[in-house]
Amino acid sequence: MKLNRREFLGISVATGAAGVLAPTAQAFTLPDPPQKARLRLSCQEGVSAGGSLTEKLDFLEANGFEGLEVGGRDLGKRVEELQKALQGRKIKLSAVCAGFDGVLISEQEEVRQKALSSMKEILTAAGALGSVGMIMVPAFHNQTKLGHQEARELLVKLLAELGEHAHKAGTRVLLEPLNRRECHFLRQVADGAAICRDVNHPGVALMGDFWHMTWEETSDLAAFIAAGKYLQHVHIASRKTRKVPFEDEGDNYIDGFKGLKIIGYQGFVSFECGCKGDRAKALAAAAKLLREQWEQARG
Ligand code: MG
Repeated sequence: MKLNRREFLGISVATGAAGVLAPTAQAFTLPDPPQKARLRLSCQEGVSAGGSLTEKLDFLEANGFEGLEVGGRDLGKRVEELQKALQGRKIKLSAVCAGFDGVLISEQEEVRQKALSSMKEILTAAGALGSVGMIMVPAFHNQTKLGHQEARELLVKLLAELGEHAHKAGTRVLLEPLNRRECHFLRQVADGAAICRDVNHPGVALMGDFWHMTWEETSDLAAFIAAGKYLQHVHIASRKTRKVPFEDEGDNYIDGFKGLKIIGYQGFVSFECGCKGDRAKALAAAAKLLREQWEQARG
């Protein structure tokens, strides 16, 4: 039997045909009873001040951070080191950032399989470390030749498999929407939430990154409300140059913080950024200013 491309990729050919139920718009429900959101700051390992891992954790704890975000590359080899370093500390491992091989929505089977197997390895380690989830971008520019509809159907199908692995490991896959300069496939938080809704698996969730949201969202508040229960992680940086928050003039996160409060957000807000000035001073000042803006945010 000759397979056409959609059948070859294992994608339903029925989508769009009469009789296929449209998803219902129910991504957002107000928490009942409302959970009070809390600002839990996190920082990527490479962004923190300090040389060794111990120095970085000491610095972050001293400045009231509650999370450490690490890269996913070879994470399996670091589980013991990280478990030891975090033992007896208030700080927890927040999210694991990417680090996998392959492309999940590539048109090439071997590239998809490479992504699936390396993501599963990272998810197993992320679960052992108690991480909120592993951050993944479905495809950057030019990483897939599939059209949008085909790519989305493939992603929903493969996320169900990855989500199951993640859930069993005690963690999640976290979709990350990027801005248009980096990818065209997934750019808005609400679109990511709709993908989570369609997969409908507890092992599949979403994150929002204030840096990308600066360019793609009309309202941070609306974006986070649309994400609702699917939002499990947030990245933060200055809004014009992606440095430490407040290193750009006019950096303001209040609208987004209002959204996080409305949905009763329980996750981390994690620094993913460069730094213009003295790292220790800039991070400490940013933590203080973010706490002030969090207080100013009224839902
Ligand atoms: Mg990010």
